[in-house]
Amino acid sequence: MKKDIHPQTNEIVIECSCGAKFNVKSTLKENTRVEICSSCHPFYTGEQKILKTGAVDKFYARMKKAEELKKKAK
Ligand SMILES: [Zn+2]
Repeated sequence: MKKDIHPQTNEIVIECSCGAKFNVKSTLKENTRVEICSSCHPFYTGEQKILKTGAVDKFYARMKKAEELKKKAK
């Protein structure tokens, strides 16, 4: 690495709300907290906790209803 052109890096700990901790080098000076990380994000875990409830569910329910209505109309 070239000297004097890089910002100073510090070894800090990133702590996630799921409890996972990561030791990283960062230009930040203090430990940091995050809400989501690669250990608990549904994309990485393969789970769909968030999508199983709420708005998306209602959307699929509406789609199903609409399709049934279509079939009846024919
Ligand atoms: Zn996490």
